[in-house]
Amino acid sequence: MYQAPRGTSDILPGEQVYWGYIRQKASAICALYGYQRIDTPTFEDARLFERSIGEETDIVEKEMYTFEDRSGDRLTLRPEGTASVCRAYVEHGMHTLPQPVRLYYDAAIFRYERPQAGRYRQHHQFGVEALGDGDPALDAEVIEMAWQFYVNLGLRGLSLNLNSIGCNSCRPAYLDSLRDYYSQHRESLCPDCKRRLSRNPLRILDCKKPSCIPFSERAPRSIDYLCRECAEHFDRLERYLVLLNLPYVVNHSLVRGLDYYTKTVFEIAPEGEIAAQATIGAGGRYDDLIEQLGGKPTPAIGFATGIERLVRNLKKQKVAVPANPSHAVFIAYLGQDAKDVAMKLASHLRNSGLSVALTFGDRSLKAQLKQANSTGVQRAVIIGDDEVRSGAVMLRDMDKGEQEMIPLDKVAEVLSQVVA
Ligand code: ATP
Ligand code: MG
Repeated sequence: MYQAPRGTSDILPGEQVYWGYIRQKASAICALYGYQRIDTPTFEDARLFERSIGEETDIVEKEMYTFEDRSGDRLTLRPEGTASVCRAYVEHGMHTLPQPVRLYYDAAIFRYERPQAGRYRQHHQFGVEALGDGDPALDAEVIEMAWQFYVNLGLRGLSLNLNSIGCNSCRPAYLDSLRDYYSQHRESLCPDCKRRLSRNPLRILDCKKPSCIPFSERAPRSIDYLCRECAEHFDRLERYLVLLNLPYVVNHSLVRGLDYYTKTVFEIAPEGEIAAQATIGAGGRYDDLIEQLGGKPTPAIGFATGIERLVRNLKKQKVAVPANPSHAVFIAYLGQDAKDVAMKLASHLRNSGLSVALTFGDRSLKAQLKQANSTGVQRAVIIGDDEVRSGAVMLRDMDKGEQEMIPLDKVAEVLSQVVA
């Protein structure tokens, strides 16, 4: 028996109500904030991700699905959304459009992770990017949009964590002081963090291993090392967040798992989730990325949210989502002549915009009506030999159990009036 590959899953019809609900809320919030959809390829040149995410990150070191195609090109299944959007921004000369360019995506993401609840090898992200504006007001707007998206979904107990990790001019001094600090605790750190110590000490702050967490709580704080411009940016952002009534907390150990971030970083988590899969959404500024990919210097900010984690939290918090609409009408028939009439009638009703269910095979009328009942239709049309001869059919109100005969050519008209 074949099974879906480890860390992937089928999204069955019963789950789709959640996905449809989330996507509808996502496109609604994008319309409110003026974001337009972009779709980029599922795979890209491997170097795009290696360069932007950073060679010394978990994603590039251990998690990418990279392969050579038949012509020897090295390709990678998208492990995140931002790099592709920036590549498209540069490739299509979007700097000539009014800035910021506001784009959103909804895409499958591939990471070779250790599968567990809320962590998969193929997951899906809804994300937004606002490209071409460095104003901290834009940071506040993007954070507000993320926050409002979760509120609109009906999630409760959200917390918003905020930090600034500075820029190329102030970060080196901060990294030095982190290196000094962690060197004193080297022996207690996990093997990954021992390696990170020389290569990328910022990442130690992000380590979720219980051995490393206590040290990160007492580590030097990036906001104490910000240059004037970054400090001012952070101050103004905080002022805007207060203005917009967003209840944030500054979390000094918040960094992100990708190298391209500068200045603002943030994460949103719902109540009661354990650390390993707590975050439902995260984002930040990446003011150098577009230039690094060959574009003009272009400040930008975005965030992304994991759809599977949203589904998980909607279920956990028992948020009511609108049910899938069921069929409006069921057609039951008895005998071949009646079946012909039923098929023509189904076609006619569907073309008039009514959703119709009927079953095939030789089921008894009783079995068909039982099925009509369990599918929750409001009305059933019953066609037997008599009905075929008389040119009228039986229309049954499934709730009340009442029925009446109506002429075949009036069925569509009558049903459109009584069926929602
Ligand atoms: P985490 O710290 O949980 O590994 P991350 O920092 O790697 O998350 P991002 O790269 O910021 O995550 O991705 C944005 C969002 O996508 C996360 O907040 C999370 O909701 C979701 N996400 C990330 N990785 C996975 C995964 N393997 N399976 C399911 N959802 C994921
Ligand atoms: Mg991760």
